[in-house]
Amino acid sequence: MIFFMAFWTIGAASNSATQLNYHAQDHWEGVCTTGQAQSPIDIPAPSSKQYVTGNFLDLPKNSFMMNNLNNPNTAKYAVENEKIEATVPWSGNRKVTLLQLHLHWGASNAQGSEHLIKGKAYAAEAHLVTSYIADDGSTKYMVFARVFKLGRENHFIKQMMAGEMNSGQNRNIASFSLGQLYPANTAEWLTYQGGLTTPPCSEIVDWVVVTKPLTISNAQLKKLRAMPLGDRNMDALPRNWRNTQNLNGRRSKLFLRSG
Ligand SMILES: [Zn+2]
Repeated sequence: MIFFMAFWTIGAASNSATQLNYHAQDHWEGVCTTGQAQSPIDIPAPSSKQYVTGNFLDLPKNSFMMNNLNNPNTAKYAVENEKIEATVPWSGNRKVTLLQLHLHWGASNAQGSEHLIKGKAYAAEAHLVTSYIADDGSTKYMVFARVFKLGRENHFIKQMMAGEMNSGQNRNIASFSLGQLYPANTAEWLTYQGGLTTPPCSEIVDWVVVTKPLTISNAQLKKLRAMPLGDRNMDALPRNWRNTQNLNGRRSKLFLRSG
């Protein structure tokens, strides 16, 4: 997950976040190194499974706006209205607030995803970041991950990357159709407990990882790597994924949707 904390404190138009050094990630501070429930992980075989009915994710019926807030670390879009909610039917109809969507990619097509599914890395990974208030009153996050394998051009990514990609040029995207990435009829997903994948790496995330990959084209991956993130003078970002972290006994749960 990329700098969503920074977004709230820095503000929408600012661009002052520094570029994370993914080659020095073993030296990220605090919980990033001392934590016992870090992310991403190579998701282990599920220890339990549950059959559910109903939708995977109920997104708002009305269209809503997302702003291009690319920062030095990722291509990112934030939901303009902080009160836009989605419902997670299989999680007690939990209401979550939609915050932002961003992408992870790699220097080559061999790995760009943060999570591995059954030991397999993918070319890219999208994170839809949402928040909710837990029973103890603390803020937690539910992040919906979707991986991309090399293949046909992805229309959603095309929509994300259309036009000016420099973050100095915020761009409203009307009717950003998140349902293309997170369809209501998604058949299978894995969950586990983890943390943010960028500093401060706080272990307050319910991860939801859709198992079926979408496709992204080679040209789209090249364009992501070459994007002038944050600043026209800044080097392009060839890689922005964190290495997998120790499981420390954590298990995953498989959800299968029927009907
Ligand atoms: Zn992320």
